[in-house]
Amino acid sequence: MPRENINLNSPVSDLKGAGPQYTNKLFSLGVETLRDLLFHFPFRWDDFSQTVAIAKIKPDEKITIVAGLISVKNIRTFHTKMAITEAVASDNSGSLKIIWYNQPFLEQSLKEGQSYRFSGKAKLTAKGLTLQAPSFEIASREKTQTGGLIPVYHVTEGLSPKMFRYFIRQVIPYATNLKEYLPTDIIQRQNFLSFAEAVKKIHFPENRQDVMAAKTRLGFDELFIFQLSYQIKKVRWQKNKAIKIKRDVKFIKKILSKLPFELTRDQKIALWETVSDCSQTVPMNRLLEGDVGSGKTIVAVIACFNASQKGYQTALMAPTEILARQHFEEVKKIAGQFNIHCALLTNSLSISFRKRQHQSTKEQLLQKINKGEIKLVVGTHAVIQKNVNFKNLALVVIDEQHRFGVKQRSYLINTTEKTRDGLPNTVPHLLSMTATPIPRSLALTVFGDLNISLIKQLPKGRRKIITKIITPRHRSQTYQFIREQIKKGRQAFIICPLIEESEILIAKAVKAEYEKLNQEIFPDLTVGLLHGKLKTVEKEQIMKKFSQNKISILISTSVVEVGIDIPNATVMVIEGAERFGLSQLHQFRGRVGRGKHQSFCFLFTESPSQKTWERIKSLEQTQDGFKLAQKDLNMRGPGELLGERQSGFSNLTIASLRNIQLIKTSRMEAETLIKKDLQLKSCPLLKKRMKLFNKNVHFE
Ligand code: ADP
Ligand code: MG
Repeated sequence: MPRENINLNSPVSDLKGAGPQYTNKLFSLGVETLRDLLFHFPFRWDDFSQTVAIAKIKPDEKITIVAGLISVKNIRTFHTKMAITEAVASDNSGSLKIIWYNQPFLEQSLKEGQSYRFSGKAKLTAKGLTLQAPSFEIASREKTQTGGLIPVYHVTEGLSPKMFRYFIRQVIPYATNLKEYLPTDIIQRQNFLSFAEAVKKIHFPENRQDVMAAKTRLGFDELFIFQLSYQIKKVRWQKNKAIKIKRDVKFIKKILSKLPFELTRDQKIALWETVSDCSQTVPMNRLLEGDVGSGKTIVAVIACFNASQKGYQTALMAPTEILARQHFEEVKKIAGQFNIHCALLTNSLSISFRKRQHQSTKEQLLQKINKGEIKLVVGTHAVIQKNVNFKNLALVVIDEQHRFGVKQRSYLINTTEKTRDGLPNTVPHLLSMTATPIPRSLALTVFGDLNISLIKQLPKGRRKIITKIITPRHRSQTYQFIREQIKKGRQAFIICPLIEESEILIAKAVKAEYEKLNQEIFPDLTVGLLHGKLKTVEKEQIMKKFSQNKISILISTSVVEVGIDIPNATVMVIEGAERFGLSQLHQFRGRVGRGKHQSFCFLFTESPSQKTWERIKSLEQTQDGFKLAQKDLNMRGPGELLGERQSGFSNLTIASLRNIQLIKTSRMEAETLIKKDLQLKSCPLLKKRMKLFNKNVHFE
């Protein structure tokens, strides 16, 4: 029963049994209120719904029994030092031995004569059939730890799953107070559970159908809100006006003739599509997709120069300072020849370039930008969000480099709209670039628009990266190979897998790996460590050292994905390769093979299943990012490609990202609703939730 004076906003310390040590643990999971707890969804359910009579128990099956406790006692084993608790329980059909390890307190807490529900597996031992360390609770209590489908949550050290379920059970009655916010017609049309019902059932479902229904409803919710937010922004975006930037074909041809290479066919098409979009008053919102190294930057830069030629300013944004600097180098190569004034603006750098490079203060640079003297500003994402006042900014290019993140796309629109472009009543055209090749069909399903340019071919003359799956037997041989490469002056990356769910634990795991490699395997080499828990400056410092070859081997979590260019690195090692999606592995691989030396990618894996083996085998066989993306889509669903990990979505939505049909449904329902009611006047609660969702979206 709900208790008085307690509601969904009450702190978790109001729960029974939640002393300071537990509330701290809950805080560390981001759970502060009862509402937070309700929205901490399980990631799986253990099926103990099969209740059987003791006489019918078969070994190794997940079962539940209801039985009276006959006896319980701790026994000693001298050689193992382990505390063992032995009990006997019986029902009408017979009696059964039960055993627990290292929980001597059970002798006290279990009461002889009491009837319990036990869930677990029985094993055939020398002493006969024995139930092994089952969960249990008093039979007359609600099914929380035993019987039915038992929820399994991501918990943390010092907070047992049992305790967590005990807390969850207490908040379930308050779920009834969750207000429905989806329009009734959607619920009816899609045959959805109510919000409250779905939240209750996601924690304690009666059966598999309940799980499905709850997952579908809650998964839909987040996808739907994302869709609403994106579609509304899209409609609004298209109502804006942008500057017509004429295509100056002659000028573009002149640039092309001065490049040291010829554009590939796909680059030419992408460039044409982009400058054509920019010549309209409808603001562009184009996505430029192309594999790592496919040459997206030059396409964007030419589009920018075309705008400069017509007197307008442009901005080219990268996710990190190092990348911005890299872009700036590329820009300078051409800008010099055409006397285009450009600048690099990041938190720590302000450099302008016209024929020669000039250091200047940030103030000076901002002024030149404001006066319109500088035509192309290269910078980090932060640049357009901060107080940069342009004179006439007509085109913004945003390079996301790392994976896509479905949420980001609507965020980009927002930021671009807010730029101080200096032009009354217009917004800049927007080109975003991504290195994750998303199959067109999927992009269509998610975004419902066709403004996508694909660069599928790589420029001529690129060397293949030799890729090999490495089993534990060949590990030391591979380390030897790395050592030889380093002797030749090359460098290596070692990526550690995401075994753990939390950032802190990932950092811990990668630190341990670092210690091992640094002290045992490569004690004589400089080994660096990079993970997401480091501050941005620390990360950049390490990357800088690595790029100057002051570090030979860089151990990293997947943060290294962000498209850094270290031409001298020739070895990419990926530990636990089977844990990553193909597209992601391909992204890692793209970190090497950027210079003139032959490069290598080693996929470490421990006894993979046949299926896993076949999956990662495709990396040995192809270097084509689109093929790999399609394979990922077929084998693992779209979540991987849509940037689930850094999307900020809940576990559940991540699962729903695998469900193409649900994505489609959510897009269609969102479109239908906006057509009727763009302002969402008819559904204020939904509107509120969407606002909250938008607030939580930001770059890493
Ligand atoms: P990405 O698509 O990963 O951003 P970049 O734009 O950084 O790739 O291009 C990678 C490298 O390829 C750059 O050094 C660029 O100058 C070069 N490049 C781009 N287009 C071509 C081409 N058509 N032929 C040869 N080299 C090219
Ligand atoms: Mg790039």
